[in-house]
Amino acid sequence: MTTELRDYRLDGIYRQKQDGFLMQRIKLAAGTISSQQTRMAADIADRFGQGSVHLTSRGNMEIHWLREADLPEIKRRLATVGLTARGACGGAVRGVTCSEQDRADFPLIEALARRIQHHFTGNPRFERLPKKFKIGIEARSGGRRHLIQDAGLVLVRTQDGRGWYDLWVGGGLGREPQPGFLLAGEIVEERIIPLLEAVLRVYLAGAPAGKRLKHLLREIGEEEFRQRLDADPSAHEELPPHRGLAENLVSTTDEGRRLEFHCFAGQLSADSLRQLATFADSWADGVLQVTVNQNIAFQLVRQCKFDQAQAALGTTISPAPTQEDKITLRVCPGSHECRAGLSATRDIAGILAKSMGPLARRLCWALSGCHNSCTQPQLADVGIVTSRLIADDDGQRTPRFDLYRPMDGDGDLNQKTEAALTLEELLATIKKLG
Ligand code: SF4
Repeated sequence: MTTELRDYRLDGIYRQKQDGFLMQRIKLAAGTISSQQTRMAADIADRFGQGSVHLTSRGNMEIHWLREADLPEIKRRLATVGLTARGACGGAVRGVTCSEQDRADFPLIEALARRIQHHFTGNPRFERLPKKFKIGIEARSGGRRHLIQDAGLVLVRTQDGRGWYDLWVGGGLGREPQPGFLLAGEIVEERIIPLLEAVLRVYLAGAPAGKRLKHLLREIGEEEFRQRLDADPSAHEELPPHRGLAENLVSTTDEGRRLEFHCFAGQLSADSLRQLATFADSWADGVLQVTVNQNIAFQLVRQCKFDQAQAALGTTISPAPTQEDKITLRVCPGSHECRAGLSATRDIAGILAKSMGPLARRLCWALSGCHNSCTQPQLADVGIVTSRLIADDDGQRTPRFDLYRPMDGDGDLNQKTEAALTLEELLATIKKLG
């Protein structure tokens, strides 16, 4: 990679597996995007890429197959609709994610996600971090997603439109999965940004280049980390309450008024994306939500009839999603486009989906193309990590897969239960699930 290409990372750009091609990631706060912004992403994919968009398991969008010469124009076009990619890759504070967009408190969470994302995006004090820094906000702790963030917030109570959160830090997946620990309980939202700043400063000062916060914590321990944090003046600061109009795009989350469009492996054509934007204009106040399971969800407006909206979504895109598309199966780009990818994840996901019986189809699956675990296999009912390539007798290198399953009654990350399975062995294991 040239120096210039490495510098593009802060603008959300990674080099693709294929020489001369690049991927642009777009940061969406809590996965929320307007129909106008969606059309722009679709237009960029058509004009500069190969006409498709990948939805990520952190609720972001990625456009592949871009050329370096087009990057400035792509950035300009994103800016015209208020989209940003700044800090979506590289040593920066990444997009703030939320897996519980259907919860009653989601508008409050989305507003906080926007404030945090706005504060850290393009902020030069926090753009030269040793490595990425991921923040997630959840409405409850049951989904375990707060455990895998560098900073995971869990809403514990609300009053008069303000929220109080538990803050968990030091989590992360990759080669050495590590659940976060509870740093501070029930903190009011006005303390969150200063406290995150303090955490980031301790991280920046103490971790070597290329290491996540979890590595610093492993090195110095929780107690020393707390002492360093205490010494930072903003660790105990409380900002004035946020005033003015709400910033969230989703204003209500009435129960039972949510529809989801299922995309296989998070892949959508630009045309389909535009059609979904049109659906959102008619039925969902012009708002789309990229879910952490790589689908598109809509919160229906109160005045519309649910059945009519459901029927309209069913005919919006042709062909309609198949039964296999509807399996919850998170899939990263793998060796199709990612330089780290060890397996052709989308192809393998298609084979897996076809092999699943009715019980297996009801589970939540995640398949990652390498140890980086971008699809969070350690949180799925069945997590699959492509762990290595092994040369067969004829010299052909084929992928091997590790399996991760939840432990009974354990609220922690999944544990590896099987290692180095061939694809055939993996399929046999899936068949046993029923
Ligand atoms: S899990 Fe590995 S192969 Fe998949 S997108 Fe992440 S880095 Fe690439």
